[in-house]
Amino acid sequence: MNNCLFCKIINGQIPSEKVYEDEDVLAFRDINPAAPVHVLVIPKQHIDGADQLRPEHADIISKIILTVKKIAEDLSLSNGWRIVTNVLEDGDQTIRHLHFHLLGGAKLGDFGRRNAD
Ligand code: 5GP
Ligand code: ZN
Repeated sequence: MNNCLFCKIINGQIPSEKVYEDEDVLAFRDINPAAPVHVLVIPKQHIDGADQLRPEHADIISKIILTVKKIAEDLSLSNGWRIVTNVLEDGDQTIRHLHFHLLGGAKLGDFGRRNAD
């Protein structure tokens, strides 16, 4: 966990372009956007990924999803948007700190699915 990139972003060791923050949740722009709007929404509590979710995480997960919706509204994504969470190797998860991609700003199609061929 101490070597986790997203934990370092949460504690300010690594800079990020924040779009939302409260005591439980942080949202920041993806460094390599796959769509015109690409925001990562993460719990401040380290959870490896969706494969590690347990019933006690229900409150933080619902808070994250509601935060994604609020950010989509704040960023005027009134035409629609997408939430993605990648899980483990076959899901192309590269950072083992649970995160939800908020993608939007264009008709997405396969846009935002970086590895779609
Ligand atoms: P994953 O592939 O694990 O679902 O998503 C990880 C995401 O984190 C990728 O979209 C990648 O561009 C983004 N990312 C990796 N390193 C950094 C970083 O240092 N800062 C920011 N803002 N995003 C990062
Ligand atoms: Zn972490």
